[in-house]
Amino acid sequence: MARKIVAGNWKMNLNRDEAFALVSEITGMLKDEESRNLKVILFPSFVHLGAVVQLCLGDARIHVGAQNCNDHVAGAYTGEISASMIQSYGANHVLIGHSERRLYFKESGDLLSHKINMALQQSLTPVFCIGESLEERNSSIHFNRIEQQLSTEIFHLSGDDFKKCIIAYEPVWAIGTGLTASPEQAQEMHAFIRAIIRKKYSIEVAEETSILYGGSCNDQNAAQIFSLPDVDGGLIGGASLKSRSFVNIIKSLP
Ligand code: PEP
Repeated sequence: MARKIVAGNWKMNLNRDEAFALVSEITGMLKDEESRNLKVILFPSFVHLGAVVQLCLGDARIHVGAQNCNDHVAGAYTGEISASMIQSYGANHVLIGHSERRLYFKESGDLLSHKINMALQQSLTPVFCIGESLEERNSSIHFNRIEQQLSTEIFHLSGDDFKKCIIAYEPVWAIGTGLTASPEQAQEMHAFIRAIIRKKYSIEVAEETSILYGGSCNDQNAAQIFSLPDVDGGLIGGASLKSRSFVNIIKSLP
């Protein structure tokens, strides 16, 4: 059975004091939920990574990840951060293929495949983001687009390596827009993704893969989305920046 997860993508938000305050509020509020076997992942910006790892050491349910990594081991890539640097600070996850990186930084499918390999080599869990644009959905090619992203960007992995990854389905038109996929749209796409994974690998791999929903998820709609049979939690952007709303979302996990 797939692990239920709530992840918070802080994007390029929060200065030092704000980041520290948010973490201490989240860890404080989660103390009430001590008995629950939750998995939470925080994705701060690189500069806060080491400090956030330290602040979360007291709660093994909270993991920390980076929002990106470079596709090379090391070298003359000014301004870039390697998977091994991320790992050396105690972070254990990395977002790969977020639509903002695909769009604003022109990250190609080929580059993303290399980043996934690099993350796995350093024992980081890739949270691999896929999603269709509004145009693709309106042209009814959204299923083809998702199948294409999976098959060309991540299906080069062996079943054993694929099992180490988390998939985040994030319809691009729902990210930061206030528009959320309807429960029907989310469930049908998550079921489709799981079916494709089953076809490529096995029932076991498909059932064990966590498939998160992302796109304007908040504390008002999380419970309904998380109750869908093929949704294993969420990747949360805007609503992860406020401790109360983020913790309410975490508490919405079934
Ligand atoms: C995201 O950035 O992954 C995301 C889902 O953002 P938001 O929740 O703000 O739509």
